[in-house]
Amino acid sequence: MPVLYTIVVDKLKTMKLPKQLIICDIIWRIEVRKYAGKNTMGYCDINKRLIVILKGMSDFDSLSTLIHEVNHAIEFTLNIKIGHNIINKTEAPITSVIFQLFKTEHT
Ligand SMILES: [Zn+2]
Repeated sequence: MPVLYTIVVDKLKTMKLPKQLIICDIIWRIEVRKYAGKNTMGYCDINKRLIVILKGMSDFDSLSTLIHEVNHAIEFTLNIKIGHNIINKTEAPITSVIFQLFKTEHT
């Protein structure tokens, strides 16, 4: 395995979510917490412009949850309804594409 590829894979294992993201020109805080609601992996607090992600999940699940909550932030900001049917079906494929981009960029 090429050295650079190994470095990227190691980096993926220690992925840290950003502290904040600009979504549709609005700054949202991103927090990773031990508790993110009953039976949920994250939530989006529209009033506080806050996205909470459950601590301790795999990088894939963390990013997938972030994308899920970003969709809710987009729904609010653009005043549109994407809906859980679409959000739930697209979060994993989008996450997969992001991981592929990150890996192939350095190989
Ligand atoms: Zn949701």
